[in-house]
Amino acid sequence: MKTIACPTCDQDVQWDMNDLQKLKARWVMVCEKCGDSLFSVSEEEKEMILVGIRLTEEYVPDIIHAYHNEDVKKLPSRVWFGEIKKSK
Ligand SMILES: [Zn+2]
Repeated sequence: MKTIACPTCDQDVQWDMNDLQKLKARWVMVCEKCGDSLFSVSEEEKEMILVGIRLTEEYVPDIIHAYHNEDVKKLPSRVWFGEIKKSK
């Protein structure tokens, strides 16, 4: 479970990749505060993200620190995330 800032309402939102909701052909994460979708991914992208998260947790346990040190705007990701504030 992680907390990010919703890009629409700027509220802290708890999220977990396992909580993605299926909407037609895509998987979406909806802000519980304003109802806007935080992001949406295809089935294939979802699988890639889940694998990526697993590998990251195995090899980069300090992901928050690593994320802050990375210039995320330069990364070639098509999936956009709000700022990660904390995780537990
Ligand atoms: Zn929101």
